Amino acid sequence: MSTTQVSSLSDDIRRLLNRYNVRPDKKRGQSFLNSHSVARDIIVLAGLSEKDDVLEIGGGFGVLTQLIAEKARQIHVIEIDPRLVKALRDALKDFTNVNIIEGDALLVDLPKANKIIANLPYSISSKITFRILREMEFDDAILMYQKEFASRLVGCPGTTEYSRLTINVQYYAEVEEILEVPADMFYPVPAVDSTVVRMTPRKKGSFARDDAVFHWMIRGIYPYPNKNLRNALQIWFRNLRIDKSLSDEVLLRLDGVLTGKERLRSINLDQLVRLADALLVLIEEGTIAYPRE
Ligand code: SAM
Repeated sequence: MSTTQVSSLSDDIRRLLNRYNVRPDKKRGQSFLNSHSVARDIIVLAGLSEKDDVLEIGGGFGVLTQLIAEKARQIHVIEIDPRLVKALRDALKDFTNVNIIEGDALLVDLPKANKIIANLPYSISSKITFRILREMEFDDAILMYQKEFASRLVGCPGTTEYSRLTINVQYYAEVEEILEVPADMFYPVPAVDSTVVRMTPRKKGSFARDDAVFHWMIRGIYPYPNKNLRNALQIWFRNLRIDKSLSDEVLLRLDGVLTGKERLRSINLDQLVRLADALLVLIEEGTIAYPRE
């Protein structure tokens, strides 16, 4: 992974904030890229060509949007703040391939795009990531997150970063950290550094026979990542008012793939898929009810 150099845009951003009467709102993650070189690095990492239709989330003043518009066939950019939508319209008026969508990226209809690029507002990192992963068909997403959040996305079994978030994201996608971006590359300067990751839909490895059962199980057992599997299953079953001795029944069906003694943090995705499939067998036999959530 590389690190980046400053080439400051801060004066331009201060001018734009004044002109469009924007007081940066932390809750909306309004820290704007102040580095041409970071913006250019992101575009290079995205490997854009005139065959690409791109979705950008959170256009801001359009630092990334303009560079994307120069390379891609089409760019759809979603921005929630009407003052920034106005700024984007002005900045991009000479491009014919830009579609500006005013609204909340968690709620608007998502356009079709084969690439996604975003310097994400941190308050919606988790929700927008799952929305993209579940609802869009794409080749590549180049997404900037808070550094600690990105570390959890790429976490490996056995590490403290390996969590429910890691598993749910890695179920859908392969994730790789590709660029570190220090906090002073933004204006206003946020409290934390950022990392750009590449996400590509996962094609290899195993998938659960029923995605809903897999995610229900992860929601149920991963609040206790430091417990061993048997204990976590027992607590979850008790919460669900299912006979907790069924946890041993589930483990028996796994033919030794998991014994129940493993700490949750150490269990890999393939093993979790096997566990979800064993639960599904008990559901199909009528021993456990199908999840309603
Ligand atoms: N892309 C610009 C850049 O790199 O300078 C801005 C990035 S800034 C971190 C995040 C942007 O997302 C802000 O412009 C903010 O107004 C916008 N935003 C925040 N919440 C949003 C949401 N729910 N839907 C769409 N845009 C949102």
